[in-house]
Amino acid sequence: MSDRWRTLLKFGLPLGMIALLSMALLLGKLSHSDSVQTTTRLLMGTMVSITTSHPSPMEADQAVKRAFAEMSRIETLMSSHQSSSTVSHLNRVSRETWSPLPAELAQLLRRGLTISTQSQGAFAMGLEPLTSLWGFSSDKAATEPPTQTALEAWLKGYPATEPLSLQTLADHTTQLRLNGPSVGLDLGGIAKGYAIDQAIAVLRQEGIQNAIVDAGGDLRAIGRKGDKPWRIGIQDPRQADQVVALSLLQGDISMVTSGDYERFFLYQGKRYHHILDPSTALPADSGLQSVSVQAADATTADALSTAIFVLGAEKGMALLDHFPGSAVLLITDTGKPIRSAGFIGEWLPKPSPPTTNSPSKQP
Ligand code: AMP
Ligand code: MG
Repeated sequence: MSDRWRTLLKFGLPLGMIALLSMALLLGKLSHSDSVQTTTRLLMGTMVSITTSHPSPMEADQAVKRAFAEMSRIETLMSSHQSSSTVSHLNRVSRETWSPLPAELAQLLRRGLTISTQSQGAFAMGLEPLTSLWGFSSDKAATEPPTQTALEAWLKGYPATEPLSLQTLADHTTQLRLNGPSVGLDLGGIAKGYAIDQAIAVLRQEGIQNAIVDAGGDLRAIGRKGDKPWRIGIQDPRQADQVVALSLLQGDISMVTSGDYERFFLYQGKRYHHILDPSTALPADSGLQSVSVQAADATTADALSTAIFVLGAEKGMALLDHFPGSAVLLITDTGKPIRSAGFIGEWLPKPSPPTTNSPSKQP
């Protein structure tokens, strides 16, 4: 087993992801002409699978290769884990000084900053020093929280307003400034969604009309699987091999989940997870275990799911009002589902406890 895999296992990632991937790989009858194929790769620290339902396996194969190449390009641009990425470079050169920002990043940052403003800073793309402090931004899994002194020092250096600034120059190029010692780009809350959207765009350019791009349970689905919708399970936040809800998706829809089970460690019996509240420097403690957002594109769904996780149920629902057509399924810390109008999916009844020694069955 490679170090990378061991690290991922330590973070508790793959079991859930693999379960979700296999849940997403979906049964159902196909139209006679379509062939369904799935290719899986490790990208952006997660298992990414692309499933196509297309008449020509060779054409689909070619398209999927291009889609993966696009996702890999985005990882090289946006990862804060890779020291050679553009984002890591920007973190070295933009602290308290303006530096040129590639147009693609400028566009994504603008989209993210809108959600930062709408969420009163709960969605924050400048948390790299904090995620590093917690050990969530590297391959080395942390085993205990940072000291109170370190967290207070971080809070002191993090501006209450506008941690990141963008300015557009007369030649229409954009510059970035990181405002303060505690600010560094970490696009972990939005880049995966963007990569999924870009992969779908490539598949479409290549003539694929029916596909799912699934990055560890975060996905966008287009078309159908033969003559059926795509069947997507939502993972039980406390039992990686169980689904709590089932969504039948078709057309063009994204669903992205943020959960406290995706990256976490336990210390003295308490769970410390990777979605951080910039106002406290601690893992968000808003009474939720998971937030699944459905939206027209995966970039929006990704940013919203992270923002809503930090904001909690009430403020999260209010944020959703800014995004007509979006919907959410929240799972509270008591395991209770709360869904907004328009969420596509059915909550599955819990299997009753076994009365014999036979193993319980998947719904
Ligand atoms: P997600 O799984 O999409 O909710 O994103 C979580 C990832 O986004 C973390 O691993 C961090 O890289 C980053 N992150 C953590 N806290 C926040 C936050 N409050 N706003 C935006 N990104 C965050
Ligand atoms: Mg997100």
